Amino acid sequence: MSPKFITRFAPSPTGDLHRGHAFSALNAWRAAKEAGGRFILRMEDIDTTRSRPAYEASIKEDLAWLGLEWDEPVRRQSEHIDDYQAALDKLAAKDLLYRDFRTRKDIAQAAVSAPHGPGDAFEGEALHPNEELRYLEEDRPFAWRLSLEAAGRSIGEAGRLKFIEEGGGPKGQQGRIRVDPRPSGDVVLARKDVGVAYHLAVVVDDALQGVTHVVRGNDLFEATHVQRLLQALLGYPAPAYRHHRLLLGPDSKKLSKRDKAETLKAIRERGVSAEQLKAELGF
Ligand code: GLU
Repeated sequence: MSPKFITRFAPSPTGDLHRGHAFSALNAWRAAKEAGGRFILRMEDIDTTRSRPAYEASIKEDLAWLGLEWDEPVRRQSEHIDDYQAALDKLAAKDLLYRDFRTRKDIAQAAVSAPHGPGDAFEGEALHPNEELRYLEEDRPFAWRLSLEAAGRSIGEAGRLKFIEEGGGPKGQQGRIRVDPRPSGDVVLARKDVGVAYHLAVVVDDALQGVTHVVRGNDLFEATHVQRLLQALLGYPAPAYRHHRLLLGPDSKKLSKRDKAETLKAIRERGVSAEQLKAELGF
């Protein structure tokens, strides 16, 4: 019998975990325990330029220190490019994608990691076939984008798609949320070089792993609109969402790797016990 409740913690091994990650993992873990369900760990390592095996090892060390357990082997996204390609082919066969040759390096980079915040609302258009052919012959790099216009036409009732929010969005949104992917624009689903981008990988994995509840920070609430749309286009079941609040640093900004938030490792080395940290985080 497959468990009725499967949730996951899906870090990108691009740095060491900090309190915010611990809070997120503990939320997911507790939800699974309370429901008598499963907790899955997944490595979102498609950003090959920044992902490191050493970070994967330290993430596991940190989670074990917190007392969390997960099944091995852990799914590593970089090992499943074929799964993403199959989903991409399915969308392409429905004429929902177009090549974007104008993708700037930084936009392309952002697309492989989760957009923790508002989308870039890019809206482009397919090139004239002759021009496209020329660019392909020149072997120019490109990204595949999902055309929101085509997607809307394809599912017809796009305006009526909903997702269930059992936690809360950044503005306290709860319950049945009407899907509006427009603020994120025509998102990148794959890059020619990597073959996949964040939204597609998450949606495919959540479906393949039978995730029933996505527990994560509310900075990914906007991303959920795009992901629900992709689930509908790919014929996948829709998990329920439990977005949780974000932990803020002393400067009232959310904790982040980029701003060098204190790592769990450093906290541990200061002599703080896992019990103390969990108590501080409300667990
Ligand atoms: N890998 C993403 C991150 O590091 C999380 C993806 C998700 O929970 O959907 O933020």
